[in-house]
Amino acid sequence: MIDFDEALRIILSHAPGPQEIQMVPLDAAIGQVLAQDIASDVDVPPFDKASMDGFAVRSADVAQPPATLDVVMDVPAGGVPTGRLEPGQAAAVMTGAPVPEGADAVVQVEWTSGFGTPTVEVNRAAPKGMHISPKADILKVGTPVLLAGTQVDVEELSLLAGAGCDPVPVFKQPSVAVLSTGDELVSPGETPGPGKIRNTNGPALIGFLRSLGLNPANLGQVSDTLDDLRAAVGKGLGYDCLLLSGGVSAGAYDFVQDILNEFGVEVHTTRVAVKPGKPTVFGTLNGKMVFGLPGNPVSAMVIARVLAGPALRKRMGYQDPASRVIRARLTSDIRKKPDRLWLVHGTIAFDRETAVTPVKNRGSADLPAAGRGNCLIVAPKDTSLVEKDAQVEVVVWRRCF
Ligand code: AMP
Ligand code: MG
Repeated sequence: MIDFDEALRIILSHAPGPQEIQMVPLDAAIGQVLAQDIASDVDVPPFDKASMDGFAVRSADVAQPPATLDVVMDVPAGGVPTGRLEPGQAAAVMTGAPVPEGADAVVQVEWTSGFGTPTVEVNRAAPKGMHISPKADILKVGTPVLLAGTQVDVEELSLLAGAGCDPVPVFKQPSVAVLSTGDELVSPGETPGPGKIRNTNGPALIGFLRSLGLNPANLGQVSDTLDDLRAAVGKGLGYDCLLLSGGVSAGAYDFVQDILNEFGVEVHTTRVAVKPGKPTVFGTLNGKMVFGLPGNPVSAMVIARVLAGPALRKRMGYQDPASRVIRARLTSDIRKKPDRLWLVHGTIAFDRETAVTPVKNRGSADLPAAGRGNCLIVAPKDTSLVEKDAQVEVVVWRRCF
């Protein structure tokens, strides 16, 4: 049995990185991972820009208000100044409009009177630079705005659009498949007969993969016979990554490892000192990855998040594929056996402090308890007590916030 950190290191070192680049339209880029650094092809703003509706002036002209100036031009957003501003002159400008040469300040309309007439009276002084966003103040042409390995979110879309990046170079997403093994399994839409249970791992893993931005194939459930399993795993190995659950422990019908060996999969981990999730198989074959996740529903989800997640993010091209870990104060003792690292579902609260409370659970089949949690508290190996008020590491994901 290997330590959790060692398992993660081994998995990340064998997980392949991104393999192909493809261009996708900007409006389909959400959730994709950038394959190249992106630079802006324009200055932002592209010209000295008014940031208020009002009048572009020469600061010196309005140093002793009130000052009456001739309004010589009218520049709407999208317009172009018709000439230079000379002493004694003002230009009506709208927010977003280019400021004419010669002007060095914008007076907001509220500080003026006479709007719409040939002259304007400016009632307050305007220091140089007031309400003008200088050309290239935000971005200079050629400056990288986004780095390769960034997953595109809403803000990135806006940046990409501003940088003129359409289509967008992204890493081609790996194809992934989910297979649930077990004679006892029926699909969620069925009523389980005697001795049967519903397949909960399949849908959970599919959803997990979707939450990463992947588009998984559901290979359904397969019985614990060598022939069926061989056929299903063979199909699963047609994908860049196969996530299967069940059949990886030491039971009489746990054939997954044998089948993986038959296919020539190089197995890097089999048992990891983590609870939940001791049996965790990770293998690679010709640049493809296979995870044999534990059958226990809570174990399968936890291991998917903390071991498969980082490997998949590496494969997707993330700059930093690691799980997100934050520190929080533990609100009650965690008593444990020292033989393994425990990942305990908890509820995290960001109030005046960040505090995390373990969810009471009755083991690896206690789905309701897992559902009450929104994070995983890391209780280290080689310790039998993590005390209340200790600062602990907590694995978080979006649901926490
Ligand atoms: P196994 O690792 O195949 O021995 O499975 C361990 C436990 O998890 C058993 O109680 C199985 O019935 C259960 N289990 C395995 N696969 C699933 C699944 N896809 N959905 C729900 N429970 C499962
Ligand atoms: Mg099984």
